[in-house]
Amino acid sequence: MPWINKEMCMGCGICVNECPVGIISMEDNAAVIEMGGCIRCGICHTACPVNAVRHDSEKAPERVGANLKEVKEFMDACEEKLGDESERLKCLKRMVKHYNNEKRIAEETLENLNSLKDKLNSAKKIK
Ligand code: SF4
Ligand code: SF4
Repeated sequence: MPWINKEMCMGCGICVNECPVGIISMEDNAAVIEMGGCIRCGICHTACPVNAVRHDSEKAPERVGANLKEVKEFMDACEEKLGDESERLKCLKRMVKHYNNEKRIAEETLENLNSLKDKLNSAKKIK
């Protein structure tokens, strides 16, 4: 998913004109993407002359940090609301289960996407 690095954006507006679904706008002389409507076409990445449109992978450490922070908050809340320190570990175990489930869903999705990619590649070769 694309995101704009505001420090790098020089406000030229090229990406605003190039986005095929019109979800990039300018705010305070920097581009902003309304992610809800993004079709992941990647045009904004190639259109930006200064590489200010960045890739999601760069935010991975930030997202991991946010997940860990959230889990700790849940653990604190479980202990406080349920009135027992042992609830911390129970909560942590539930979150481990949750992320294992997310991992399984991502792996199965990838398997399906890769087989779809193989099918499209072979159809292209036949043409
Ligand atoms: S990836 Fe495509 S649809 Fe999404 S913001 Fe960029 S140009 Fe628009
Ligand atoms: S093309 Fe790049 S520099 Fe220009 S407005 Fe979009 S993000 Fe900013």
